[in-house]
Amino acid sequence: MTAPWDALPRIPLMAARPTPVQPLPRLAAALGRDFALWVKRDDLTGLAFGGNKTRKLEFLLADAQAQGADVVVTAGAVQSNHCRQTAAAAARLGLEAVLVLAGEPQAPAEAGGNLALDALLGARVVWTTRAQREAALTATVDRLREQGRRPYRIPYGGSNALGVTAYAAALAELLAQMQPPPEVIVVASSSGGTQAGLVAGAHVLGYAGRIVGISVDEPAAVLAARVADLANQALRHWGLAPAITPRQVEVHDRWAAAGYGVLTEAEIEAIRLAARTEGLLVDPVYTGRGLAGLLGLARTGALEAARRVLFWHTGGTPALFAAAYRRVWAA
Ligand SMILES: *Cc1c(COP(=O)(O)O)cnc(C)c1O
Repeated sequence: MTAPWDALPRIPLMAARPTPVQPLPRLAAALGRDFALWVKRDDLTGLAFGGNKTRKLEFLLADAQAQGADVVVTAGAVQSNHCRQTAAAAARLGLEAVLVLAGEPQAPAEAGGNLALDALLGARVVWTTRAQREAALTATVDRLREQGRRPYRIPYGGSNALGVTAYAAALAELLAQMQPPPEVIVVASSSGGTQAGLVAGAHVLGYAGRIVGISVDEPAAVLAARVADLANQALRHWGLAPAITPRQVEVHDRWAAAGYGVLTEAEIEAIRLAARTEGLLVDPVYTGRGLAGLLGLARTGALEAARRVLFWHTGGTPALFAAAYRRVWAA
């Protein structure tokens, strides 16, 4: 079957496709529930430690090249995986990368993790605050243009119609490698593009399972509205009618209460449990929180009768080495 996104230009950045799907029997057993648990290893996309942004960048940077860009500009948090993967993709394509990072407000003294990789990958960093992030991104793009450069602006998280498209294609990839498909897919959701892609892809491909977003920072209603909007932007981009309402988008925000990037006991428990039952590493900001959500939903019966559950690993593991998250592994 050809999908509406198959004709869109894409630059291959992944080391291997499909990413593996692996069973997690010891983690499922530790939960004491009678279900089968799998993980989709998008931490293994293969670009400079991998993650979900690599898929999005395949479409975004194809567009950048088509527009003749010579520098890509994007924004994120100090430990942004999106910015690190953007820096790596830019290096690989011979483009410059400028990253607008929200420190508070200066560069943290001893950051490590993704920030160390940004420097290693040759990206230039512009520091701002979270409140000023969008304005600083616009100002940076404008300044480059005034200097005669050809900047390509990538939104926060790479989440626009092109970024979303990548996760619709990723759902098609999963369905081709896993039959019968999982009844529930659980994914960490933040800028919303990944979940939006899965939702829009499910609509086109006729996938009827639940797509459960564990919010990393936003209240559920805000994130569900954003996911629906992004999914509809993608459907329109493919020449289809918008079809997703926020009510159709399942988001849980119980694990986001502490705020973005704030480590709680729930993440620490999930990170250690995955590491010690399966040798699987999840990260302190996104996938640790997403997995904590999966564990919580499973323990409280909120996955109901689902017997086949898949955790979509979206990467982020370099943040395990950030100074801010030492508590994950320090005794
Ligand atoms: C960006 C990111 C997410 C969230 O993806 P969105 O498309 O922004 O919702 C999840 N996990 C990791 C590791 C990420 O870097």
